[in-house]
Amino acid sequence: MSKERKLEKLHQKIKNCKKCPLWKTRKNTVPGEGPANAKIFICGQAPGVEEDRTGRPFIGKAGNFLNKLLKIAGIEREKVFITSPLKCLPQPPINRKPKKEEIETCLPYLKKQIEIIDPKYFILLGEVAFSVFFPKEKLSNFRGKWIEKNGKFYFPTYHPAAGLRFPKIREILERDFKKIKRQF
Ligand code: URA
Ligand code: SF4
Repeated sequence: MSKERKLEKLHQKIKNCKKCPLWKTRKNTVPGEGPANAKIFICGQAPGVEEDRTGRPFIGKAGNFLNKLLKIAGIEREKVFITSPLKCLPQPPINRKPKKEEIETCLPYLKKQIEIIDPKYFILLGEVAFSVFFPKEKLSNFRGKWIEKNGKFYFPTYHPAAGLRFPKIREILERDFKKIKRQF
């Protein structure tokens, strides 16, 4: 079976998922989007309100800022795979931080996406994304640096939503994405 077909089937499965209570309140699942042969995999936290409404990842305010950051890095959004460890909007309250058990329940989908796509580079946006890949480490020790692990390269940084709230974090994010540009 082709990668595209495998990914399609997986996303169909996600769309029908009822493994955690978030299925009851979601409008749409947000499996993620991008080519099945993407070299770069971007991992966020969880869908927000706009994402839930449309089923597409990073299309709200944080998504607009992510688009700017990708431009800084010289990366075309159409060529990367973008998703989150949680595929449904966390609520109530709306857009709250995901619970540990929600992430755990949803994580097999992210792992399967990675297995199918087999990207070489990962950009990890924020604490939640970082802890999924490096559960024993602290983001503050690794932010803004490439980590090589088993032939893959991981670049942890802040979540763009944090950059929208705090100008200092915005600056650091812009600097980090300049660093990412140098890798490519
Ligand atoms: N923030 C995320 O972490 N993921 C999305 O899909 C949208 C906003
Ligand atoms: Fe299923 Fe994940 Fe949605 Fe929970 S968040 S219902 S595990 S797809």
